[in-house]
Amino acid sequence: MEFNCKNFNKKINEFLNDRINDVDFKKFYYHLKNCSSCYDVLLDEYIFYVIYNDYDKTADMNYRQMLNNSLDNKLYEINNNYKKSKFKYIIISVLFYFFIVIIIGILLRNIYL
Ligand SMILES: [Zn+2]
Repeated sequence: MEFNCKNFNKKINEFLNDRINDVDFKKFYYHLKNCSSCYDVLLDEYIFYVIYNDYDKTADMNYRQMLNNSLDNKLYEINNNYKKSKFKYIIISVLFYFFIVIIIGILLRNIYL
């Protein structure tokens, strides 16, 4: 199910605290790309979050760029993990079928010899 603006708003804190899960993050990200008013809400919250948590940041920082980077990095990270786990799954499947073929081979040999 896609996020509407209400779902999106509920997930802003999870995103800022890096506690959002991968499935929710993808919906969060795609809603953001299609809804400029939610983007503005997130940007405000993000600026507040950065200022509140890090006193060294100055007012002339490009918060929009920082937010976009952190969104894109997170998406990249999720997609990369997904590819890695898919590859692992394929390797395990191949080993499993190989193992089954050997077992069947041994059983057939025992029956016919
Ligand atoms: Zn929205």
